[in-house]
Amino acid sequence: MRHSMAVQVGTVTVGGGAPVSIQSMTNTATTDIKSTLQQIGRLVEAGCEIVRLAVPDEKAAKSLAMIKNSINIPLVADIHFDYRLAIMALDAGVDKIRINPGNIGGEEKLKQIIVRAREKNIPIRIGVNAGSIPGELRKRYGGVTADALVETAMRTLDYFEQHKFDKIILSLKAADVLTTIQVYQNVASRVSYPLHLGITEAGRGLKGIVKSTLGIGSLLLQGIGDTLRVSLTGDPVEEIPVAREILQAAGLRYFGPEIISCPTCARCEIDLPATVDIVEEIIRGNKEIMSALPLKIAVMGCPVNGPGEAREADVGVSGGKGFAIVFREGKVIKKVPFSELAGTLQETIMHLCMRKRNDTT
Ligand code: SF4
Repeated sequence: MRHSMAVQVGTVTVGGGAPVSIQSMTNTATTDIKSTLQQIGRLVEAGCEIVRLAVPDEKAAKSLAMIKNSINIPLVADIHFDYRLAIMALDAGVDKIRINPGNIGGEEKLKQIIVRAREKNIPIRIGVNAGSIPGELRKRYGGVTADALVETAMRTLDYFEQHKFDKIILSLKAADVLTTIQVYQNVASRVSYPLHLGITEAGRGLKGIVKSTLGIGSLLLQGIGDTLRVSLTGDPVEEIPVAREILQAAGLRYFGPEIISCPTCARCEIDLPATVDIVEEIIRGNKEIMSALPLKIAVMGCPVNGPGEAREADVGVSGGKGFAIVFREGKVIKKVPFSELAGTLQETIMHLCMRKRNDTT
C-alpha cells in the first residue's frame, strides 16, 4: 500500500490511510439550485461522499454558498479558464477546488489562486490532462504520452511547492486506460500527495463501467489511489454503485455482503437466479446485516462445486435434486425444499449476524 499524506476535504480525509472515498459530479445547471440540491440528495442517498459542481461563470459561482450551506458532504468547485471564478469559489466556502493549471491563464493567475487557497486553508485538486501539457513537452515526447503527462505534473507540483502550498490532491487523466495506469504508477512512486483516480470520458453504460473498473481497479490493487470517481455518461447517481462494487471487489471497503454465485450450467439443480433474488431481498435495507460485515454468502447450483464453496462462505446454499442444502460457517444447517429456502436462509443469516454482534460486544 502506497503511503500518501492526508489532506482534509471538509469532513472527509483523503489519503493518509483513510478509506478510499467516493466522489461524483452533478450534471444539473449549478445556477439551478433546486435541481442541483435534488441531485446531490440522490447522490448522497446512493453513497456519494464528496460532490463536485462545475462553475462555468460568475452566476454559477454565486450559487455556491447557498448550495454549500444546504448539504452535508464536502463540496468541490470545478473551475476552468477563469482564475477569478476559483477565487470566488474559495470565498464562497467550498471545501476544495479543482483546477487544470494548464488552462487557468498563466503563472501569475495561478499564484493568486494558490495564495487565496492558502489563506482559506482549502485544498486544491490539480487535474493534469492532455490540455495541461505545454507545447514544448508535447514536441519533446511526441504528443500526449505518459512521460509528457508525468513531467507536466511534476513541473506543476514544483510550482505549487515553490509557493509553499501542499494541500494538494492530484489527478492525471489520459485518453486510454493503459496510459492512465502508467502515469499514475509513475507519479505514485515519486510524490506522496493523495491521488484522485478516474478514467476520464469512460463512456456510457457497460463500456464505461468496464473501462473504469479496469483502470481504477488495477491501480487500487497496486495500493494506488485515495479517492475516486467513476465517470459515466448519464445520471451521475449510476456511478456510485459501480464505485462501491470496485472498492468492495478490491477488498478495500464493504458496503454489503459479498454474494458469490455460480454462473449455472446443465448440472444446476435449483432456480439459481431466484435464489440470488431471495438473498438480495433478505439483505436489502437490513441494518443488522450491514453491521455484521464483512459477510460472504455463496449460492451454488449443484453438488459438484456447491458444497465446497458454500462451506467456505459464512452462509451458503447448494442445490440438490428437489432440495437445497443450507450451510452456516462450514456446517450443514438444513436440507429444505425450495419453497422453504427463503425462510431458512433468513433465519440462518440473522442467526449468524447475531452471533457476530455478540462476539464483538
Ligand atoms: S456449481 Fe454446479 S451448477 Fe454451478 S456452474 Fe458449477 S457445476 Fe454448474
